[in-house]
Amino acid sequence: MSEIKEEVTGNEKSLNFLEEIIGESVSRGEKRVLTRFPPEPNGYLHIGHAKSICLNFGLAKKYGGATNLRFDDTNPVKEDVEYVDSIKEDVHWLGFDWAGEHYASDYFDQLYEWAEELIRKGKAYVDDQTQEEIRQGRGTVTVPGTPSPWRDRSVEENLDLFRRMRAGEFPDGAKVLRARIDMAHPNMLMRDPIMYRIIHTEHHRTGSKWCIYPMYDFAHGQSDSIEKITHSICTLEFDVHRPLYDWFIQELGIYPSHQYEFARLNLTYTMMSKRKLLQLVQNKIVMGWDDPRMPTICALRRKGYTPESVRAFAERVGVAKRDNVIDLSLLEFCVREDLNKVAERRMAVVNPLKVVITNYPEGKTEEVKCINNPENEEAGTRLVPFSREIYIERDDFMEEPPKKYYRLSPGKEVRLRYAYLIKCEEVIKNDEGEVVELRCTYDPMSGGGSSSDGRKVKGVIHWVSVPHAVKAELRLFDTLFTKENPDDVEEGKTFLDYLNPDSLVVRTGYLEPSLSGAKPGDKFQFERVGYFCMDKDSTPSSPVFNRTVGLKDSWAKMQAK
Ligand code: ATP
Ligand code: MG
Repeated sequence: MSEIKEEVTGNEKSLNFLEEIIGESVSRGEKRVLTRFPPEPNGYLHIGHAKSICLNFGLAKKYGGATNLRFDDTNPVKEDVEYVDSIKEDVHWLGFDWAGEHYASDYFDQLYEWAEELIRKGKAYVDDQTQEEIRQGRGTVTVPGTPSPWRDRSVEENLDLFRRMRAGEFPDGAKVLRARIDMAHPNMLMRDPIMYRIIHTEHHRTGSKWCIYPMYDFAHGQSDSIEKITHSICTLEFDVHRPLYDWFIQELGIYPSHQYEFARLNLTYTMMSKRKLLQLVQNKIVMGWDDPRMPTICALRRKGYTPESVRAFAERVGVAKRDNVIDLSLLEFCVREDLNKVAERRMAVVNPLKVVITNYPEGKTEEVKCINNPENEEAGTRLVPFSREIYIERDDFMEEPPKKYYRLSPGKEVRLRYAYLIKCEEVIKNDEGEVVELRCTYDPMSGGGSSSDGRKVKGVIHWVSVPHAVKAELRLFDTLFTKENPDDVEEGKTFLDYLNPDSLVVRTGYLEPSLSGAKPGDKFQFERVGYFCMDKDSTPSSPVFNRTVGLKDSWAKMQAK
């Protein structure tokens, strides 16, 4: 019924090109949809991977299929179990469950057999040339390659040499196995691509069993085939690999998985190369892979992002066939939108200025009732202590205010959120002339924030009672790079030359006492300040909060322009 209704009202969201492809194959009678997410365990997953995860799992789910998690662990030099564990944690956190957990390394025996099969068919040979010689022999886009002097070895000799490569008789780089395709092929990747290389390094799963390892092109499509993946979705730069992907499947006569490409996610002010992210970690430029300034999923989590907000972001970005760059403010918009619904409100002062309310009784404390979340009635209310001395935000006072400044200034009144109207009577300064304290009076008849005589007070500011305040470290993050595209570096510079010196500003803030019960990972809106999430560095005596995102919505503003 609902489908029909959607059709009639024209509300149905148009399908992206991958949905169209899968929808077509399903309507042709193809019963099964099986996708896979294939990370190389050589680093932590980032927001770009999140996009790919949401796409692979989302498509399968939509068409009643399933998704495998496959670790593309064919290079023992860069891979580690630490990364495997973090990847599993991150996929789960995003809200997805995989059908099968697989490792390309589980297929090494099968891949080896298939390599021998290609040798026997005369479709692969052992090449003794150096890496440099092979590179040069490839030719260029306009010049055909030159065949290797070893290209016409006999099947027997190739089999013998390949077996001895496997047995460990040769050092790293001495020989490779190459597919025998076409040295003049217009697609450079088809000019006898390398299938196997020698690497005498222990593998995190297969130990020292192997000293030859398959290349991406002779592992990825074959793994897809072994798992009977129907739709192998990857990023655009792999479109040139597709003919090779198909060639191996055809020559081996194995299950015909198909590869489809979509545009990778690029975000402004964000760098996503795992190699460069590793550099930031190793050089201690950031606190670790989960430093909230990193684009990794674990960093977003630590910063206070919710899985819902990341999935909503992936959905809004959509799938494109052409490369584009998404504005970082869209990601921030998505987390703000979600936290606005789910985060409880609290009062916290980031940059404190002390206010003494001279006509408020000394030693008296009142409990004022505050609404936890105006977006969600069920979140209820809480009581917050109010007393004679409070902190307000330094920015909420101006000695010489411009017109239309509705906050506190000498002789003027302001409303304290949920409490009273106060009037600034006196400004106390230190020897340097800095304002250090305000003396105010309050209107005892203005409880709950409304005046008894109907006079209008426009400004409302937040506050925290001094004797009850919880002192906390507040970490205010900005982008890690000053450049919109940190990968686009000037000559003689590296991406490290564009680090933002103010990417982390640490402040001491004062929080309402209810926050002393918070746990790491808890998320709040500090009223008028921003969304914050308690950090794992917190101790009972010194809590730490990360600013997830400010309240100002630069994305909506950009859209309105
Ligand atoms: P590296 O940075 O080491 O080259 P990678 O970013 O390609 O690695 P993989 O672990 O090989 O990382 O990627 C796993 C999957 O995630 C692949 O299918 C890849 O296409 C996809 N992916 C990686 N980066 C992005 C991105 N920015 N946007 C969308 N998908 C991505
Ligand atoms: Mg890769």
